[in-house]
Amino acid sequence: MLVVMRQNATPAEIEGVARAIEARGFKAHPIPGSQRTAIGITGNRGSEEAPIFESLPGVLEVIRVSHAYKLVSREVKAEDTQVNIGGITVGGARLAVVAGPCAVESREQTLTVARAVKQAGAHLLRGGAFKPRTSPYAFQGLGEEGLKLLAAAREETGLPVITEAVDVDGVDLVERYADAIQIGARNMQNFSLLRRAGKAGKPVILKRGMSATLEEFLMSAEYILAEGNYNVVLCERGVRTFSDFSRNTLDLSVVPAVKKISHLPILVDPSHGTGRREKVAPLSRAAAAVGADGVMVEVHNDPDRALSDGPQSITPDMFEALMRELRQIAPVLGRTL
Ligand code: PEP
Ligand code: MN
Repeated sequence: MLVVMRQNATPAEIEGVARAIEARGFKAHPIPGSQRTAIGITGNRGSEEAPIFESLPGVLEVIRVSHAYKLVSREVKAEDTQVNIGGITVGGARLAVVAGPCAVESREQTLTVARAVKQAGAHLLRGGAFKPRTSPYAFQGLGEEGLKLLAAAREETGLPVITEAVDVDGVDLVERYADAIQIGARNMQNFSLLRRAGKAGKPVILKRGMSATLEEFLMSAEYILAEGNYNVVLCERGVRTFSDFSRNTLDLSVVPAVKKISHLPILVDPSHGTGRREKVAPLSRAAAAVGADGVMVEVHNDPDRALSDGPQSITPDMFEALMRELRQIAPVLGRTL
C-alpha cells in the first residue's frame, strides 16, 4: 500500500502516519516528492488497514500497489531517483561515467589507471578488491589491501570509489572504504547480501544476474529498498544467450523497460556485456542513446597482462576517445557529460 499525503500535510502529520504504520508492525518508507510526500508500506499482507490510514490527518488517499515490487516502482514514486555517490549524481541530466580496472592489482596499476580516467573526464572510479571468480584458482583480489589502494587513488584524484562486496561478512569492510557498494551479477539473488546492503549507509550498484528477468532484477533491488536503503543504482551487464561472438548479450532494451516501471537510475556495463575490447565504445554510445544514466567500463593500463578481464578492458587512450564521443552524443539526447 501507498499512503499519499495532502500537498499541505505538515511534518507532524507525516510522522503521525509513519507511527501508525509502525505501530501495526509494518515498515513505513516516507518518499518525499516535488508535489507531496507519499509513504510506502511494506511488511503488510493485504490492504485491510487501508481505511484506518485513510482517516488519519493529512492523508489524501491510500493506493493499493498492484505489482510485487513496490518501493522500486513508479507507482510509488513517479519522479526519477538521483543517487549521490561521494558527491557525484547518478540519474540526473549528466551522464555518469564509471571507469577503472576489473581488479585492483597493485598500487602502480591502480594509480596509473585512476589518473588516466580522471584526466579523460571519468566521474567515478571502479575496481574490485574482492573478485567473484568462476575458478577458485583465479586471482581473487587483494582484499583489504586493495580497498586501501582504492582509497589512495580517491585521495589523489578526487574520484569517488565503487567496489564490490562478495559476501555479507565483507560488507562492513567495503562500506568503510568505498563510496558505493557493488553487488555483482553472481550475487544478484543472494538475499542475505541484499538485505545487508539495504542496511548499509552507502549507495548500492546492483548488477543484473546473467539470467535474470526484469522482474527478478527489480525484486532484488526491492530487497535493498525494503531495508531502508533507497540509494540503489541498477546496472545492465549482459545476459547469457546463444550468441557466439560476445561473452554475453548486452540487453539494451532493458533500459527503457526499467525506465517505464521504475524510478531507479540504470547504468550499462558494455565491458562484461560484450567481453571484447573493440565492442566497448560502440555499445557505450548505444547505451547513452537508449537512455541509460551512464556507463561503467573496465580500463587497464596494460590490458593484455591484466589479472582479470583483460580481453574486455580498454586502454586509457581508447577511454579518452570514448569520452570524446560521449561528449558529442550527450547534448543530442538532452544530457551533459
Ligand atoms: C565486475 O564488475 O568486475 C564484475 C565481476 O561484474 P559482474 O558481476 O557483472 O560479472
Ligand atoms: Mn570484470
